[in-house]
Amino acid sequence: MSMTDFLPWQQAPARRWLAARERFAHAWLIHGRPGCGQMDFALAGASSLLCETPREGLACGQCQACRWVLAGNHPDLRRIRPDAQAVREGALDVAEDAKKQPSREIRIEQIRSLLPWFNTATHRGGWRVALLYPAESLNAIAANALLKILEEPPEHTVFLLAAQAPDRLLPTLVSRCRRLPLTVPGAAESVAWLQAQGVQEPAARLAAAGGAPLLALEQARAGQPVMPDWMMLFLDQAAAGGDGAALADALQAVDPADWVDGFQRLWLDLSLGAHGLPPRYHPAEGARIAAIAKALDPAALAHAAGWLQQQRRLARHPLNPKLLTDHAARYLLQAVRPR
Ligand SMILES: [Zn+2]
Repeated sequence: MSMTDFLPWQQAPARRWLAARERFAHAWLIHGRPGCGQMDFALAGASSLLCETPREGLACGQCQACRWVLAGNHPDLRRIRPDAQAVREGALDVAEDAKKQPSREIRIEQIRSLLPWFNTATHRGGWRVALLYPAESLNAIAANALLKILEEPPEHTVFLLAAQAPDRLLPTLVSRCRRLPLTVPGAAESVAWLQAQGVQEPAARLAAAGGAPLLALEQARAGQPVMPDWMMLFLDQAAAGGDGAALADALQAVDPADWVDGFQRLWLDLSLGAHGLPPRYHPAEGARIAAIAKALDPAALAHAAGWLQQQRRLARHPLNPKLLTDHAARYLLQAVRPR
């Protein structure tokens, strides 16, 4: 999989999208659920717009333009993303200033740096493509600066904004873009693709990632177990009637946003189980989840679901992480006790 290529499930929508190239909008908002490849779509889209010899509308991967894109030095392509994202891609060195955390925002200087670029001639008079992702990371000032540019769009320039949560974007900015929603691929197609990437237990992986294939791949490559250890421990303790001390210790090693998210998924599986339905996220642990779900008090489960929803908002900056994990471990185990 090279970055000039669309993911298999994106090829048909991409061809339809690129077919109308002559009357192409100058700004596109490419959005979809996390882990379904908006960013990959935008990058392959940029490659296809820049390619000198596209095949059925898509980038050939071999011409001079495609080679420049692959090498990261096409003069008519700019990738605007937070420094933290560039570091993750290996495109930026953190060692330069180890004390400073790389920014998680797209800053105004990054938008301003585009202005002189708009006045330069493009290679062979083709497109100029500005890729912005994730668009949610545009801070308010940067978003307004971009809006100004889009109000009087520069010639021969296409803006591709990739986003997971377009509702978090400045509405006036969204109104300046044509929307291009991407759908989640079907489970069979995703499993086949994960298998081709060498992922073990692809079906369980995909389910654990909520059906998002790129997220499943990322988790597999990071060596994460299909079900996190702390969640296994929760199921063990729920069955054995544990007091939560060991679970609290385990949760402390995890980012609160991650365990809150994990519990919310497990809670959905438990409420499905309480209705005699199979789990959505953790089919491999279906028997254990069903056994716990059958005995628990639905009111207590619902109450804890509300609590988890509240924590979701607070999890990024917990006032006292230790207190939070101690309480969560005891409270959530209590919530799944047999009636
Ligand atoms: Zn090409």
